Amino acid sequence: MRQRTYKSLSIVFWFGLSCIWLWAGSKSQAGQTLLLDDFETLDSVKRWEGDIQLSKGRSSHGQYSAMVRLEQGRSQISSNKLPQDWRGYDRLLFDIYCDREEVSAITIRIYDAVGGDLGIAKANDYYEAHEKVVVQKGWNHIEVNLRPLRAASGGRDLSLDRIRRLLISAARAPLPWTIYLDNIRLVAGQEGRQTASRTQPQDTRTIVDNGWFTVRQVARPEEVPESLVVTAFRKEAQQEFDRLRETVRAAQLQGIETIYQERYLVTAELGLQIRPRLAWFNNDEKKREMFSYIVESCRRGRLELEDKIQGIDRMPEADDTQVGDPLIRPFPPLKGRPVKDSFFLDERNEPMMILSLHSPSQTLQRFFATPLQHIESYTVGGGSRWTIYDSPVYAAFQRWPDTHRVGWDGWCGHLIRDINSMGGRKRENIVICLESPHTRQAIEEYIQTNIPKFHANPELLYDIEAYELMYICYCERSQRMFHEWLEKKHGTVINANEKWGTAYKSFSEVVPPPVSDSRPLPETNRALWYDWARFNQDRFTDYLLWVRSLIHKIDPKTPLAAGGSSSMLAGRTGTTGIDEERIVNEVDDVILHEGGESTLGLDLQIALAEKKKPVADPEMYLSSVENLIPHFLHGKSVAQLFHWPAQPSSEVHSINDSSLAHSWAYPLADIGDLIRDALDLRRLNKEIAAFVDVPAEVAILYSQTSTLQLPPEMLTWQTTPYLAELEKTYNASQYLDAKITFVTERQILKGRLSRYKLLLVPAVRNTPTEVFEKIWDYAVHGGRVLVVPESFLGDEYNRATDHASRLGLIIRQTQRPKPGGVGAMVQGYDQSLSQSVAFVDDTPQKLSPTRTEVFGSIDQLETRGIRQIFEAKSDAKILFRYSDGGPAIVQMAVGQGAIYYSGSSLEERSYGRLLEDLFREARVTRPVRLRIIGGGDAWNIEVRFAPLGNRKLLYLVNYNSTPKRVSVDAGPGFFSSLLDLRDHHDVQGAEITLPAHQTAIYEMF
Ligand SMILES: [Zn+2]
Repeated sequence: MRQRTYKSLSIVFWFGLSCIWLWAGSKSQAGQTLLLDDFETLDSVKRWEGDIQLSKGRSSHGQYSAMVRLEQGRSQISSNKLPQDWRGYDRLLFDIYCDREEVSAITIRIYDAVGGDLGIAKANDYYEAHEKVVVQKGWNHIEVNLRPLRAASGGRDLSLDRIRRLLISAARAPLPWTIYLDNIRLVAGQEGRQTASRTQPQDTRTIVDNGWFTVRQVARPEEVPESLVVTAFRKEAQQEFDRLRETVRAAQLQGIETIYQERYLVTAELGLQIRPRLAWFNNDEKKREMFSYIVESCRRGRLELEDKIQGIDRMPEADDTQVGDPLIRPFPPLKGRPVKDSFFLDERNEPMMILSLHSPSQTLQRFFATPLQHIESYTVGGGSRWTIYDSPVYAAFQRWPDTHRVGWDGWCGHLIRDINSMGGRKRENIVICLESPHTRQAIEEYIQTNIPKFHANPELLYDIEAYELMYICYCERSQRMFHEWLEKKHGTVINANEKWGTAYKSFSEVVPPPVSDSRPLPETNRALWYDWARFNQDRFTDYLLWVRSLIHKIDPKTPLAAGGSSSMLAGRTGTTGIDEERIVNEVDDVILHEGGESTLGLDLQIALAEKKKPVADPEMYLSSVENLIPHFLHGKSVAQLFHWPAQPSSEVHSINDSSLAHSWAYPLADIGDLIRDALDLRRLNKEIAAFVDVPAEVAILYSQTSTLQLPPEMLTWQTTPYLAELEKTYNASQYLDAKITFVTERQILKGRLSRYKLLLVPAVRNTPTEVFEKIWDYAVHGGRVLVVPESFLGDEYNRATDHASRLGLIIRQTQRPKPGGVGAMVQGYDQSLSQSVAFVDDTPQKLSPTRTEVFGSIDQLETRGIRQIFEAKSDAKILFRYSDGGPAIVQMAVGQGAIYYSGSSLEERSYGRLLEDLFREARVTRPVRLRIIGGGDAWNIEVRFAPLGNRKLLYLVNYNSTPKRVSVDAGPGFFSSLLDLRDHHDVQGAEITLPAHQTAIYEMF
């Protein structure tokens, strides 16, 4: 093993520097460097595990570096053959070269003899800088502070005399990824020139100090060289910014509205003053892009105002004896706003669109609502990962063992923190049981102390008890509650045994099925598990109601909410205790929905509510700005955007992805659009609300049973066959110019199906027989139902049902993609009830139409995934056939209605074409239709019509990445021109161009 120690620099230089060291209080050995590896010989790479080889192309020291290839399953390299005595050194230094454009992060780990080596060490008993090492294009110089090197558990410092291994991994960076690694060394004090790496002023420098990191460049930002062209752009941008600012002031003097043009001042300051100070923006390419946007946007804003000042752009005629309202009225105080249906109301009783920024900036409140609009009171657990140590719950947790959660080895569900929780002080498991009277008493105390303080906030619109929750506990109290719940549900144990296929003598014998690695064991009795999962949902909902009642005793007025909306669309629902439908209807005054991507989850959340309520998103992460307005058009009316922090994150690099101010993912133009969208939401509040009020005529079956009755392994899957098909059904029906919604099993049992003209059943494998009967009844009375596989195979206890034969179908064989194929990997299948299964290649298959009246326009459909070979009754109408001539999609007359049955899972766009014809057949109201000029289906363009009094409104969202030229078709005399309400642009006739990623709102005249 090579080991070199350098003595550095001359005595004269030493002397000068020693003053600095004394001042810094450092006792480091002056100027020592211990080289760990600088990859100059072939021996060097042999010390490493992973895909690593010598490279002459790039080096920061010497002639060679290590080329490291990181790929799926091999996304790390490590070595336990480096020098192991790190005592006496301040910091670990190394360099990484990367040629990828995007900013990525790597993770490093260091193992020592106390915790043990890789594979032996307990979780978190090693040092870890998780996603703290930022890597961007070019050379990155990394510095890790060794004094001390705290274990990730927080419980001890690493023993620097016995370091075992250094590991570097790709964290969540996209793979494969090639990086170059060089000059890994330990340094004490000022490093000498001989061992230091070559650097350039623009190189990235990351300094990691245990849990924290900072990113900068080698030189201060203003000293990083800039090309003459970029400097010229910078000057011009500054001039245009100054001129716009002056013009805004002059326009305001005249009483001309300037708020829309002011957004360019925000983006200009971001682009001139904030972003060029960040390492990932301070380069010629990024600065050229930013400065040219500033020049163009500030000039545009100024010209708009100049035209107004001159009167070229005439303002609408108004009674000049009256002072008008500002274009964007300020928000009234938010506390105590009245609620009507889906909205909070302003002082004029108009629906409010309340968008705030998760940000301490006061300046930005010119455009956005106050961030004080909501609080998360953490009343469900009586404290958060930050506040728990000051809560009576912590004292109870330390004193009473029965306050500890039992039998659950997964995530704590924010109740309250586990060792992996981000933020907060100490690292320690505080995972609580909510049944313990000691927990309950402490939580009650927490509520009594804290609610008066929280609710004194004069801008408080609503209080979240807590969100992103999950809870399951196996303690004795839980078991007793379960036994009582079973008795209430089943009456006698004989009834229960029949459903479970068991032979218990009494309910008290029943042991809840245990979990390991967050899911039930492989041989779990699925019927019993189903009851346990339902029980767990009921008891947690009841608990949330108990918390609600305590808060209400102190303040009966402030609207409350709770929940964990994302879990109902993931495999894990059965272990979360979250029954979102009960929460929405019984706990929530305001419905919570978290997420800024597809509107599916939002539409589902709204559909769960029996009664209209406002929908709020307390932490809306916009993966893309284009998603903001669609969410409001679908019913969200309160949102806090996550986030615009004062500084970039110093804890986890990926949090910066979502920082509107700091992220490379949001160009200045997007920030400009975002502010414009925020203003438009406020200005067009009534128009947006009109779309929310339109009733849907098509519903997709949300089967809670199918989310709970699963093979054990699926409980940790991201999605399940049912959820994947649900999503596909939603996507396929989204672009057909009609609103769609969801209907739940509880709603069906209450007779709510009669509201809809068409019901879509997406692979609802398990549902109670009573639900099936109601669906049958719906068809008998004229309803239309489309069923896709595998649906109606079993009941909630996974007992086989004969619903297929009721439909007149005999399923001869079920073909599934061979395990390992793409479709199989994504979906997986539950084989517990299928009679005859064949595994086939997952190649797409074509269905040919039989040219019936209804589906005559479709020439072919494509299927992929599961496929049933079946026979239908002689009176069934065959609509499509497989290539071998067998029936593929059939229509069965049922009473006055019809059930359509597809034997195979359709590709999304084929599914869309089938639904287009079904919507027509079911006479779904669509007064306005979109047509692509030049032909083709209007994929990825969402269009909805809404009346507002006598007004006719229309919105169009183009989710495509290219502009689309479209025609708006409606009956004769319906309209002759369109007014774009967002930019006041007038369109004669029906043809418009939709820019990419934009939402347009029109009034039809
Ligand atoms: Zn418990």
